[in-house]
Amino acid sequence: MREEKKKEEAPLLVTKVEGKGIPWDPTQLRRVQEHPCFSKKAAHLFGRMHLAVAPKCNIQCNYCLRKYDCVNESRPGVTSKVLTPQEALERIKEVFEQVHYIKVVAVAGPGEPLYNEETFETFRLVKEEFPHIIRCMSTNGLLLPDRIEELEELGLGNVTITLNAIDPNIGKNIYSFVNYQGKRYRGREAAEILLRNQLKGIEEAVKRKIVVKVNTVLIPTVNDKHIIDIAKKIGEMGVYLQNIIPLIPQYKFAHITPPTPHEKKEMQEKCSKYVKEMTHCRQCRADAIGRLGRDIQHCYL
Ligand code: SF4
Ligand code: SF4
Repeated sequence: MREEKKKEEAPLLVTKVEGKGIPWDPTQLRRVQEHPCFSKKAAHLFGRMHLAVAPKCNIQCNYCLRKYDCVNESRPGVTSKVLTPQEALERIKEVFEQVHYIKVVAVAGPGEPLYNEETFETFRLVKEEFPHIIRCMSTNGLLLPDRIEELEELGLGNVTITLNAIDPNIGKNIYSFVNYQGKRYRGREAAEILLRNQLKGIEEAVKRKIVVKVNTVLIPTVNDKHIIDIAKKIGEMGVYLQNIIPLIPQYKFAHITPPTPHEKKEMQEKCSKYVKEMTHCRQCRADAIGRLGRDIQHCYL
């Protein structure tokens, strides 16, 4: 369990990892206090920039229509233009010349960042040119344990993992397949592999002082009764923040009625006993630039 002293200004001072209290250091606090997704206060002051360098995905979520950006972290129904790592770097230079409040550079799609080598090349280029900018990524978590060392070397500061179930019997209803190490898995086996890697990935990221957020898609009749269990688990693991995202009914879940804003709020309140809840999410695009809800990427097309 973490000890939370104050809400926003001094978020969490100690995180327990494998039973030991690990104190937060100033760089971790900066990665919360200057990150618009991790701090509501920062969202008014600072912006983030997404680099759409990662088109391929290695799993199939039953709520995702793959012709659009990954809906685990991006606004549904939007298709971002894919950039090469070099183009992404040029885009950053261009934006930084004109906009001075961007504190975070992130890869969030349009597919799964860790399944595209371009993500690593992009972070390499960003680290060389802009070593102080916060580097952030969102992932389905399947490859996180396999790539965490490289991510640490590249100075990844913050990561978001989409975790929709901690019970493979529920997970098997959310994922059609998982492609891992050259083989396609389905059903419970697929959900088990994904879950094992997501939990291991979270554990490894927390151990390395990467600040972790978990996104959880609230899917009525599928995982809605299970979300509190997820919150308890991730709270115990030292995850900093949970973002509960209401289902957008599409693909295999097109028939499911999405949760109302009230139902989502109720769920956030219940979960906030176990983990801090994000309440200012704007579901950004995989190519978003600017402050949350005040995007300016259309200026750079
Ligand atoms: S991880 Fe993202 S891109 Fe891949 S299937 Fe799921 S929502 Fe779609
Ligand atoms: S939307 Fe997700 S990936 Fe993008 S900057 Fe925020 S936390 Fe990072």
